[in-house]
Amino acid sequence: MSLAAAAEKPQTQSSQALDIILSNIDMAADDEGPICQDTGMPTFVVHTPVGVNQIRIRRAILEATAQATRLGKLRPNSVDSLTGKNSGNNLGEETPVVHFEQWEEDEIEVKLILKGGGCENKNIQYSVPCDLDHLGRADRNLEGVRKCILHAVWQAQGQGCSPGAVGVCIGSDRAHGYELAKGQLFRTLDDVNPNATLAQLEAQIMEEANRLGVGAMGFGGKSSLIGCKIVAANRLPASFFVSVAYDCWAFRRLGVRLDAESGAITKWLYRDPSRPVERMARGEGFPLTGREVILTAPLTEAQVRALKVGDVVLIDGEMYTGRDNVHAYLMKNAPPVDLAGAVLYHCGPVMLEEKGVWKVKAAGPTTSIREEPYQADVIRRYGVRAVIGKGGMGAKTLAALQECGAVYLNGIGGAAQYYARAVEEVLGVELMEFGIPEAMWHLRVKGFAAIVTMDAHGNSLHADVERETGEALAALQKA
Ligand code: SF4
Repeated sequence: MSLAAAAEKPQTQSSQALDIILSNIDMAADDEGPICQDTGMPTFVVHTPVGVNQIRIRRAILEATAQATRLGKLRPNSVDSLTGKNSGNNLGEETPVVHFEQWEEDEIEVKLILKGGGCENKNIQYSVPCDLDHLGRADRNLEGVRKCILHAVWQAQGQGCSPGAVGVCIGSDRAHGYELAKGQLFRTLDDVNPNATLAQLEAQIMEEANRLGVGAMGFGGKSSLIGCKIVAANRLPASFFVSVAYDCWAFRRLGVRLDAESGAITKWLYRDPSRPVERMARGEGFPLTGREVILTAPLTEAQVRALKVGDVVLIDGEMYTGRDNVHAYLMKNAPPVDLAGAVLYHCGPVMLEEKGVWKVKAAGPTTSIREEPYQADVIRRYGVRAVIGKGGMGAKTLAALQECGAVYLNGIGGAAQYYARAVEEVLGVELMEFGIPEAMWHLRVKGFAAIVTMDAHGNSLHADVERETGEALAALQKA
């Protein structure tokens, strides 16, 4: 991330986003708190020598997962797909995900990846031959694979919290292809693929994807991809899949090697305990220019109509969180609070109750596009003046912003510690039956920084960047 930040043009929106991300990383390290509020689907890959009791290891993993959730290190993320009920402790049917493999080494190896929903939703699988936006036909050859991977980076835009990393599997079947693609995300970013053909393709994708101009958070810029790792697997003659697992900048992996007899840690993976923690921030986090617009919520129509795409705002006052369940609820029920002039924050925070008082442990924005089917109605019906999220929204919401006098503010995805510190007080909570991440939290904030990316005049930075990067993609095709 330091390299990504150094490559970005100073004073741009992407560069500002990276500054916040770097500060957020420092804050998470200082507090040993979640680097992002979405702590993902905990996925463990365990290798054991023959004879090791895997049932005991699974039990230990479940206990550790529940304990980490109790301590506020993991957000309760396990939701019953039939009832919608959150188990509250990250345990449930098939969660956490645990894969066991035997191997011929003497030690046990446990690796963990935490990949959140924003980037998980941007995974994509291609069945080639296929036609791709801006790139034309992708055939069953390496050139076709190259097109698929570039398309995967392009389609993610900022919704997966770019700059991201992609794990890719060429071949296999649909299910195993995705598994192998995700497995590539366990490689270190600076390793070199032992297969020379794939090593060359990885290098080519890194170079070309960083010319697309997606930039941090999809704001437009030079840093779009921090890693590309590819594996090839045999396939059926009739099938040719290219599976792409997209991971965000947070890119959380950790692993240990264990003595199989004593269980003692013999080595850490992805972490060198002898290396001091390096500070990431280049300055004070969000370099203020004095041109920021201070907004005190609730907001008036005139305040909002005065804003335009590119403005940086600092919000003081009250806001409400609301994401998938809240939006679905508001389609059929009146809001439990008055949303006239309100700031609605797409966020599923990590919260911890300490002595009867709720504390925010992590509170970055979630991917807004999921609320596109609801957002315009919510704005029209209830008078919401500002929506904060990440990745932008679509044409329906843009039309409602213009019609009603409202704005979309892009927070910095994953900057959960940075935003948690902007919360002065938790004023209350509604709809707690949806579980902690989905409840409607009433917060008082101070200096909450965000960028206007969709304004009340019909302008959308997201639409502009998507169009410009589409043209860049087409240019790569011609080159
Ligand atoms: S950084 Fe973004 S994509 Fe990654 S887990 Fe957090 S919110 Fe999701």
